[in-house]
Amino acid sequence: MGLPTVFIRLTGCPLRCHYCDTAYAFHGGQWMGLDEILAETARYTTRYVTVTGGEPMAQKACLALLRALCDTGYRVSLETSGALDLGNVDRRVVKVMDIKTPASGEVDKNLYSNIERLNEADQVKFVLCDRDDYQWAKDMVQRHDLAARCEVLFSPSHGKLDAASLADWILADQLPVRMQIQLHKYLWGDVKGK
Ligand code: SF4
Repeated sequence: MGLPTVFIRLTGCPLRCHYCDTAYAFHGGQWMGLDEILAETARYTTRYVTVTGGEPMAQKACLALLRALCDTGYRVSLETSGALDLGNVDRRVVKVMDIKTPASGEVDKNLYSNIERLNEADQVKFVLCDRDDYQWAKDMVQRHDLAARCEVLFSPSHGKLDAASLADWILADQLPVRMQIQLHKYLWGDVKGK
């Protein structure tokens, strides 16, 4: 977080989380081939690229795109809901995988076998809406020993859970997790594409 990064946003998502702030990515966008995407990305000097959505893994060509970006020398991360199998993602890619909480409305979509796909460089993220979500996420971290597997992020759902309250809960419970806020919302507000 905080590093200048090119975001490649792929259209479409099979989920409908209550707090989704990228519903504009469910439809529309423009068709672009791999070469076109690489050329557009090359217009920026940063070496950091994030492939996101929607749910980027819902597009089959996502795997080829990730591979091509890595081959070009970028440091690539993939933001995913975790609802689709991540087994074929290039190992050079940093996976940032959500585990959907009950308040998201999409907890049934979690593909828990993906937890086995995570390694030390990856991150698992819980977007939390309330105290019940926090308790649920805390149980998940313990049950799957997630902090021993990869970095664990707890993020307050903007406008639903006060960031300071979440920080207090994490400190009180001495959880081995990193708190993350939606920096773009603090900088620019809830503006499309930011
Ligand atoms: S998975 Fe992400 S893009 Fe899809 S509905 Fe949930 S928050 Fe929105």
